[in-house]
Amino acid sequence: MDKPHIMLVEDEIHLARGICFNLEEEGCRVSHFESGEKALPALEVEHFDLIILDVMLPGMDGFQACKAVRGLDARVPILMLTARSEDADRVHGLENGADDYLTKPFNLSEFLLRVKGMLRRSSWYRPDPVEEGYQFGDNEVFLLSYRARTAQGEIDLTEMEVRVLSLFFRKEGEIIPRGELLESVWGYSSDTETRTLDNFVVRLRRYFEPEPSKPVHFQTVRGVGYRFTRKGH
Ligand code: CA
Repeated sequence: MDKPHIMLVEDEIHLARGICFNLEEEGCRVSHFESGEKALPALEVEHFDLIILDVMLPGMDGFQACKAVRGLDARVPILMLTARSEDADRVHGLENGADDYLTKPFNLSEFLLRVKGMLRRSSWYRPDPVEEGYQFGDNEVFLLSYRARTAQGEIDLTEMEVRVLSLFFRKEGEIIPRGELLESVWGYSSDTETRTLDNFVVRLRRYFEPEPSKPVHFQTVRGVGYRFTRKGH
């Protein structure tokens, strides 16, 4: 099998070197860029399995770069490195199409765990047998082609969205604990504190719920996790 190819966009050279070294040790191939402007053209000619994007960059910032990446590649998992720990930053990143974030300075083993989790193939998470054209509410979701028809029109799904949706569809009607979602979709160790999952569910509700603030399909089970129901009650 080919080595996973990772794009790293990071202007701090020492940190970038450390990340490259460690990812290469793990059997990955890493292409490093110092700015979003330099990284974007590479997306037009090469395939990447994961993009690691720093928020504070010279020129266009990580959020702008993230949005531009999504214009070129709707699926590729994107991990953002944020310097600030404010929640607003994370939400902003996730709204611009990122799939996860890690606050600097981060722990190397947590970083590697997250990268490995995001590199796993979505095919492992697909319902078995795959129900292509999964319908609920006004929506129809095509996991194999990473597309969905919603009340607002057709949308492209990211790799991580497909993974989360696969798990929800497979366990329709069941309560899924936070730890299970984080571990099986993102590769977190189960005790990690994070808002990634919650922000991600907000995104799914915005796509698929008639009233995102009053969700009927993607329900919060307070203190436990989430439950997806097809019929919405
Ligand atoms: Ca930086």
